[in-house]
Amino acid sequence: GPGSGPSQPGKRRLGVMGGTFDPIHHGHLVAASEVAARFHLDEVVFVPTGQPWQKSHRLVSAAEDRYLMTVIATVENPQFSVSRIDIDRGGPTYTVDTLRDLRALNPDTDLFFITGADALAQILTWRDSEELFSLAHFVGVTRPGHHLTDAGLPEGGVSLVEVPALAISSTDCRARVATGDPVWYLVPDGVVRYIAKRELYRGE
Ligand code: ATP
Ligand code: MG
Repeated sequence: GPGSGPSQPGKRRLGVMGGTFDPIHHGHLVAASEVAARFHLDEVVFVPTGQPWQKSHRLVSAAEDRYLMTVIATVENPQFSVSRIDIDRGGPTYTVDTLRDLRALNPDTDLFFITGADALAQILTWRDSEELFSLAHFVGVTRPGHHLTDAGLPEGGVSLVEVPALAISSTDCRARVATGDPVWYLVPDGVVRYIAKRELYRGE
């Protein structure tokens, strides 16, 4: 089944959920939870990006704010953790660097990189895309408005998983805060309070 994948028996199985997380929301959390169950992952590590090169057209919140929101959202789940590697490396984040570093930090571990269908579609345009598939198994998850397609992706290197559709995006959460609309139940309660405390997304 999909849980067996290309990995070896007995090895630790680590999911990697990269994202800007500006802010983290329940779409991210459901996707990670669903892939963890489906692929029998031991743990999922959330990795907030450094200054994201794909989003240079808008101001991204401070890395420490995005990191802390990710910690707040995941702290109660014993299977979830957060890594600072992309933030501490500095500069724009390339997924190949994330996976190389996580490989070095986690010997005898199979990596499963979890990414939305929208990002997966662009995967072949990413830097060092060939090496990517040797570093991790790629798991593309559905998100509302995007269809899963495996066109052009290397055979065996990618799995596609349908997760319960949550029509939530960070973009919409930011827009809601800016116009005074609620984000309760779109993001974890602690993240709602953190956004208010730090006055994030007010002027957008
Ligand atoms: P933005 O609107 O700013 O682009 P986002 O909601 O897409 O933010 P990201 O931090 O860019 O959040 O997403 C991190 C990863 O989570 C990406 O791979 C993205 O495709 C995936 N993702 C985001 N929202 C959902 C969702 N509702 N369901 C499943 N996957 C999602
Ligand atoms: Mg996005």
